Amino acid sequence: MMTREKSRQLFAAALQLIPGGVNSPVRAFRAVGGEPFFAERAAGARVWDVDGNAYIDYVGTWGPAILGHAPAPVVEAIQRTAALGTSFGIPNPLEVRMAELIRAAVPSVQKVRMCSSGTEATMSAIRLARGFTGRPKILKFDGCYHGHADSLLVRAGSGALTFGQPDSAGVPASFTEHTLVAPFNDEAAVRALFAANPGTMAGIIVEPVPGNAGLYPPRPGFLEFLREITRETGALLIFDEVMTGFRLALGGAQQIYGLTPDLSCFGKIIGGGLPVGAFGGRAEIMDHLAPLGPVYQAGTLSGNPVAMAAGLATLQELAAANAYARLEALGAQLEAGLRDAARSAGVPVQFNRVGSMFCGYFTSDPVHNLADALRSDRQRFAKYFHGLLDAGVYLAPSQFEAGFISLAHTPADIDATIAAAAGVLRTL
Ligand SMILES: *Cc1c(COP(=O)(O)O)cnc(C)c1O
Repeated sequence: MMTREKSRQLFAAALQLIPGGVNSPVRAFRAVGGEPFFAERAAGARVWDVDGNAYIDYVGTWGPAILGHAPAPVVEAIQRTAALGTSFGIPNPLEVRMAELIRAAVPSVQKVRMCSSGTEATMSAIRLARGFTGRPKILKFDGCYHGHADSLLVRAGSGALTFGQPDSAGVPASFTEHTLVAPFNDEAAVRALFAANPGTMAGIIVEPVPGNAGLYPPRPGFLEFLREITRETGALLIFDEVMTGFRLALGGAQQIYGLTPDLSCFGKIIGGGLPVGAFGGRAEIMDHLAPLGPVYQAGTLSGNPVAMAAGLATLQELAAANAYARLEALGAQLEAGLRDAARSAGVPVQFNRVGSMFCGYFTSDPVHNLADALRSDRQRFAKYFHGLLDAGVYLAPSQFEAGFISLAHTPADIDATIAAAAGVLRTL
């Protein structure tokens, strides 16, 4: 039996000092009950807590750790670069190299600007879309998360055809009045919103494969439809690939679905575990940013050399032969094993997977959007989560998060995970 006594003491101390004991809310385990463990170190596919327990990790620091934890080329690049100066606030060669690599991997990106988080990337892309089109309205989808900027913390309100309701205290309704919300995978809802707001739509922002309410893929044709309706109406299509960028393919979801958005947002993987975001797209749009154009955007640590070095080392490893084929094979192995285990245990599970991203929902109905995801039995998930944790497998502590496989996971790790899950599923 695992003990987590040191974690327990640290959490008690943290609760006195940090709101909820954590610096980002999902980490607090509220959705599954119990208390978080504190990490001491991580290497490859494993995380060790301060009590010495090891876990096979499927959170991967919420997406960035696609090479596994502390990969040698990234750690070396960070050390080498930091010794030359940790921040300049002056242009540095690594920023140019990073822009070249992003443009080579993602053809829709002709110019790119670096920032320090995914939240900054989406917030800036939306400001740019509004500045470029001269229009106020943005359409987002229920269950898609684009960071915590005011105007994006919105849920569908009763007046969803006109505007969304703030989803957080501290966000005045007037800040979200230009944000419209539709269910994902729902063409008719999008058409209705465009019809109700003629000539005022600046753009659509979408996670092309939503991974912030669990995981559900786009229905065939849905993303193509978004491309069409934005093109027809002069609105911009913004792909938020903060999670999917460099995760599903080097060119992100837009590569696997063969689509060309106007703007794209990145984060997570391109920082190699350091705080990085980026947004880019057609040069004609990007040139509306200051200092060339009237749309203001800035950052003291944007293009930070240490972060660029970590990101560059990560992208170089990913470009090496076979990375995505290996991730797909590991994903397929996990999917087949978990489906089998759920079937043998007689537990209804919808297992959604795209490449190395996955989510199992405890429901017998297919999950295509947030409303479907909400049908999952969350008490069952909480039991499953804790059962796996005690068996040394760490999933995100919420039903509404995607799991991530890394290149450091081995087929043996996946088999061990399936065996642990089979044991837990039998107890549900
Ligand atoms: C994580 C995430 C963000 C926010 O990125 P942060 O770096 O946490 O600010 C935005 N969009 C998507 C799709 C994400 O997964």
